[in-house]
Amino acid sequence: MKLGCIADDFTGATDLANNLVRSGMRVVQTIGVPDAPLEADVDAVVVALKSRTIPAAEAVSQSLDALKWLQAQGAQQIYFKYCSTFDSTPEGNIGPVTEALMEALKTDFTIANPAFPDNGRTVFKGYLFVGNVLLHESGMQNHPLTPMTDANLVRVMQVQTKRKVGLIDYKTVAQGAAAIRERIAGLRADGVGVAVVDAISNDDLLRLCPALKDMPLITAGSGLAIGLPVNFGLSPSQQASQLPAASGLKAVVSGSCSVTTNAQVAYFKASGRPAMALNPAALTHGQSDAVVQQVLAWAEPLLKDGPVLVHTTAELEAVKAVQAQLGVAEAGALVEHALAAVARGLVGFGVRQMVVAGGETSGACVQALGIAQLQIGPQIDPGVPWCYAPNGDGKGVHITLKSGNFGTEDFFIKAFPVLA
Ligand code: ADP
Repeated sequence: MKLGCIADDFTGATDLANNLVRSGMRVVQTIGVPDAPLEADVDAVVVALKSRTIPAAEAVSQSLDALKWLQAQGAQQIYFKYCSTFDSTPEGNIGPVTEALMEALKTDFTIANPAFPDNGRTVFKGYLFVGNVLLHESGMQNHPLTPMTDANLVRVMQVQTKRKVGLIDYKTVAQGAAAIRERIAGLRADGVGVAVVDAISNDDLLRLCPALKDMPLITAGSGLAIGLPVNFGLSPSQQASQLPAASGLKAVVSGSCSVTTNAQVAYFKASGRPAMALNPAALTHGQSDAVVQQVLAWAEPLLKDGPVLVHTTAELEAVKAVQAQLGVAEAGALVEHALAAVARGLVGFGVRQMVVAGGETSGACVQALGIAQLQIGPQIDPGVPWCYAPNGDGKGVHITLKSGNFGTEDFFIKAFPVLA
């Protein structure tokens, strides 16, 4: 293994894996820290944690466990992946995890770079932009768990770490790797431990990466990944995204209620394909199992004719009404449990190609299907690749985990031919 990655959430891990595959690495994503050695022959492993918003001490401990496992598999460089909007609070977890990884790797310097120009995330003079506005004007200032009220990443990072934080600005980045290396030497001499790096384009990221070649630890969003495989002598190739041939029946399970997913559900229905909506209120009073059985009985005879869709996807008004009735957490838990049971039932019928929509929904389905590792394959839309979950008897499942806002309107239909 060349690159060992630790991602602080699930769909973010897939996003990183996707960028690495597109740049030529063969990648496996693991769900949590595996308890056995890696069996696949790959260039990179992304360990997906759910550590973004848990207490900092727990995030540190999980990240160090992941580090130990990656080192035991021979990882030559470690990549700590967080969100391109730098989702964190004054308590962490980006700062504390970075610090702990630096200590464990016995290194006195690393970079911080959430830029993902292809998705409109750019860093200029240390300030993070989302599209055309600063981070704290992007809506992220109202995030329920990690409100981002300051776009200046040097300041944001400095609050979270005891290490001195500095900046490698766009002028240095524009001059290329030699100038960046020189700047790093200067910052180190000044006692800087973490440097935020400007990047306003993919070209900036590609100029930065050669300067990171010998760094034991890199911290970044998924954007930087486009320039790292070349450091290991790899270039984009068809083979990197090769998955075993797909077979079996097809289905879509959707628990995302985003605007994008609502449009994707509407498109699928308008195409005349079979779709079944699950009403969360019907899942209460111990009725969940019965409802799931009804849905599965509906789906079974239809599967031979093409993909079926089972969803709880609903418009904001309906979601709010259900949440008012059941409570946000209870509604979410009921829905996730039911959709996960539907996913398991569908696989029981022979579904081997499955689209899952929604970050939390994906987590629930992957868990219910007992999936521990995902081999990353071809991209369907930016940030959303097909994956393959092997299961020993050659009857693995091809699955794609679409986070709420990703994908074009026809995603639920166009995804399947990508595997053909
Ligand atoms: P996204 O990626 O769009 O955020 P998630 O799956 O992460 O999607 O989150 C959607 C959440 O909303 C889940 O917790 C899910 O259980 C819940 N949910 C889904 N459908 C409904 C519904 N009709 N009413 C209330 N909550 C719902």
